Amino acid sequence: MEKIKMTTPIVEMDGDEMTRILWKMIKDELIYPFVDLKSEYYDLGLKERERTKDQVTIDSANATKRLGVAVKCATITPNKQRVEEYNLSEMWKSPNGTIRAILDGTVFRAPIIIDPIKPQVKNWKKPITIARHAYGDVYKGTEFRITEPGKAELVFTGESGKVERATIYDFECGGVLQGLYNKDSSIKSFAHSCFKYAISTKQDLWFSTKDTISKKYDQTFKLMFQEIYDNEYKEEFEKLGIKYFYTLIDDAVARVIRSEGGYIWACKNYDGDVMSDMVSTAFGSLAMMTSVLVSPDGKYEYEAAHGTVTRHYYKYLKGEETSTNPMATIFAWSGALRKRGEMDNLPDLIKFADNLEAASIETLMEGTMTKDLVGLVEEGFTAHAVNSLEFIQAIRRHVEAKY
Ligand code: NAD
Repeated sequence: MEKIKMTTPIVEMDGDEMTRILWKMIKDELIYPFVDLKSEYYDLGLKERERTKDQVTIDSANATKRLGVAVKCATITPNKQRVEEYNLSEMWKSPNGTIRAILDGTVFRAPIIIDPIKPQVKNWKKPITIARHAYGDVYKGTEFRITEPGKAELVFTGESGKVERATIYDFECGGVLQGLYNKDSSIKSFAHSCFKYAISTKQDLWFSTKDTISKKYDQTFKLMFQEIYDNEYKEEFEKLGIKYFYTLIDDAVARVIRSEGGYIWACKNYDGDVMSDMVSTAFGSLAMMTSVLVSPDGKYEYEAAHGTVTRHYYKYLKGEETSTNPMATIFAWSGALRKRGEMDNLPDLIKFADNLEAASIETLMEGTMTKDLVGLVEEGFTAHAVNSLEFIQAIRRHVEAKY
């Protein structure tokens, strides 16, 4: 076949350890044979981050701003042990944090589901995508441990000199105290990213807070979402036949458990932290979770939700065979190529992304899997474990059969 042409490059962010090994296999077996790949390559492997004093991470995020679509491999976030292992001059920040801050984006996490691996919640049939507002609230809180009676006050001193003051509590004994904040700009960016992603994936958007209790704080989130929806997205939602739906977080939890899935659930920071773990655990496997960072002006960075699978990498270095699951990384590639195809109006590239995903699912459905999935399938389904390369090559045969 003639290779599929691209017009604009995607930003390619390479990474670390076992996922870096998978990255090359995926490109060699599943991308290069079919697509005349145009990419701007950034090596976010820890060695290169150290060599460039982390400038490469910043450059890759700016390239995503410029080009609009990126695909990222998992990367090491250094801790003390990694500083020694890689002889680092500094404990470089998490690349994901740096990229998210530059793009001002929201992370959407969704599971890849296949019939033989049933979610813990029986009625879930379609993916539930969680959008977490990763800014502010309790994560940027200021806390006191109170150890004597006294008065706690909330004070705001405006630039104009205007002072607002309220008593939080007159403590008659010891206790705890916490101050939280968020910013209009961040809440609005969160809302835009959510509406854009709902349109991009043609799914309903749910949003939940506790505005009945938090009449200013959570209420502001609710009102801003509603205003942005009414003014900027309602028409497009109606055209696509999708819905925006606000409800209280407790009602949302009950509805999510009773639903069959197939929507995006936007959550405030803490709710999103907790709920994304609950949803991914209930769907089965971290290796099957994809993740997309979406900026409020519609730039997309696709990746797997899991890390660099260190344990497998050390086995690989010893020359041992590993059966690491490449599904989420493959879907990061297909997601990025599809988005590029949509932006540049390239139907063949969109079709290739669909084919690559279909081929991956077909491979699992014929029972060819990585080791981590074999233990998760329903009784009665026959599955056999293969190593990473064999799995990727099996997918390649399914892609080839489509051309
Ligand atoms: P991890 O996701 O690599 O592994 C967690 C567990 O899940 C392990 O038991 C692993 O064997 C299993 N697992 C995960 N993905 C798998 C796959 N594709 N196939 C088979 N099994 C899989 O997370 P970790 O061990 O906490 O962290 C390892 C490194 O990854 C750390 O350096 C961390 O900083 C980094 N990390 C990066 C990202 C990212 O780049 N987005 C996310 C999380 C962790």
